[in-house]
Amino acid sequence: MSHPGFAAILKKIETEKEKFDAISKEVWRNPELRFEERHAHNLLADALEQEGFKVQRHYILPTAFRAEYPPDRSSERQVQVAVLCEYDALPAIGHACGHNLIAESSLAAGFAIKAALETDPSIKGKVIVIGTPAEEGGGGKNILIEGGAFINIDVALMAHPSPTDHLFPPFIGYKNLTVDYKGKAAHASGYPWEGINALDAVVACYNSLAFLRQQIKPTNRIHAIITKGGVIEGIIPEEAQMKIVFRAANLEDLKSLQEKVIACIFAAATSTGCEVMYNINERSYEHLLTNKELANTYKKHAEAMGVVFQDGDHRIIPFMASTDMGNVSHIVPSIHPTFSINTSAPNHSKAFTEAAGATAAQTPTLNAAKALALTGLEVLQSTELLNAVKRQFEEDIIAENIGSS
Ligand SMILES: [Zn+2]
Ligand SMILES: [Zn+2]
Repeated sequence: MSHPGFAAILKKIETEKEKFDAISKEVWRNPELRFEERHAHNLLADALEQEGFKVQRHYILPTAFRAEYPPDRSSERQVQVAVLCEYDALPAIGHACGHNLIAESSLAAGFAIKAALETDPSIKGKVIVIGTPAEEGGGGKNILIEGGAFINIDVALMAHPSPTDHLFPPFIGYKNLTVDYKGKAAHASGYPWEGINALDAVVACYNSLAFLRQQIKPTNRIHAIITKGGVIEGIIPEEAQMKIVFRAANLEDLKSLQEKVIACIFAAATSTGCEVMYNINERSYEHLLTNKELANTYKKHAEAMGVVFQDGDHRIIPFMASTDMGNVSHIVPSIHPTFSINTSAPNHSKAFTEAAGATAAQTPTLNAAKALALTGLEVLQSTELLNAVKRQFEEDIIAENIGSS
């Protein structure tokens, strides 16, 4: 910790903590849904520009941005550390995943790494803050990947609020699909035998998925909602629709679960006599590959601030969801630890929304920002660490490919 940049990071975050909090609260008070995060985009882009970053607004996506420091385009190869902001909210319940705190911690980490770089012009490196919209079901990072946002990036850093502190949160792969059943309308009392009931097909499929759920691995998940179920009670529903999400810990499990889910979809069509069409969203989320070298660096700094990671404690169930950061983690060495924000409420609940806007969330969020920035600085100043991170990444990818072949 002798490099002056480490002290500069801690000082920068402490000095500007009110500004970071104000931005976070402004995002929290104005929840915007995936791909519509215009206010958050402008707020964060303005702050980065004022700080001296070179900002590309509307980068690849209308509500994404890319902010770089130093702004020059040197031809010399530089180490590039990316910190990723998220800022989308959920329908009806606002910032129930606390993405305002992700915006805050990554913005603060970006500012702090810049402050560290300013203490030592000999470091040939860059910090890049990337604004990544639409994490909640939109796969914003997948679109940014396809657009080339991660070309030449050496590591990607982000932390996510949750009720627990996990260095290796088991974020699992995710696919979603829409299923449409088509039957035949008829008078529900006068001529029911003339009808084919599409709602029955949806209900049969939903129930089959529920039966399937008890025979799947504890790391698998299935959930569904019914989005269309008829127009009026007196007509046998001709059209019905449901949306299904299924998740698994790796590609192999995801493939196997997909086959079972599709069998449930067809079984319901057969038993009711309906026609069925389903559409799988190809923009799926991959499971998260946490880079051990980066994670251990983050751990060292977070623990020095008093964070106690709960990875080994089997009484504490980690936040096991899915994230488009999973896709990033398969192309660039990444970390995505979770940090607790003084609540036992689960993500995607109204109580978590309250916690994400509360003052009690600030210290853990800023500690996460400090640990991210200190990790970023270590990567920028130590070729040895960067090489170890890259070696670990290659080993993880080889192991993945063996596992799924
Ligand atoms: Zn969420
Ligand atoms: Zn989230």
